[in-house]
Amino acid sequence: MTILSDFSELVQINPITTCWRWCGSKHPDGYGVIGSTPAHRVAYLLFVGPIPDGMTVDHGCQNRLCLNPAHLSLKTLEDNGRDTAPYVRTESVVSLALAENPHHGPDTLLTPAEVAQRLRVDSKTVTRWATAGRLTCIRTPGGHRRYRESEVTALGG
Ligand SMILES: [Zn+2]
Repeated sequence: MTILSDFSELVQINPITTCWRWCGSKHPDGYGVIGSTPAHRVAYLLFVGPIPDGMTVDHGCQNRLCLNPAHLSLKTLEDNGRDTAPYVRTESVVSLALAENPHHGPDTLLTPAEVAQRLRVDSKTVTRWATAGRLTCIRTPGGHRRYRESEVTALGG
């Protein structure tokens, strides 16, 4: 599944805290997002199960970028009142997460070969930069990697 390959590429596991640190897009409030959906919520749905209506996913480790399902637990919205993120309430969150991120709309998407050519590096370097969070790796529905032209331009391409 595309979203699982995104997870494995965009998550760094901290060997000490065992937190799975999300390296993809971030919400201004500090948690990870996939599309417009909180990434830890997608992680809970993928690895644990459905999130009942009225419940929110809380980080036991207080690391908002952490996606380790062992660190995530359900809380009622009252318990977690400080967290005011606009949550999507059902399992449709996964399909929403796979949908095109509106922020990517105006951007041309480049293939890894095009990125490598523009930045005059090899494609392994492009992959490494994506893993390090310097480039956002976007998966097409067919599983191909694409990169945002604006980010490539910002890196000097
Ligand atoms: Zn954690």
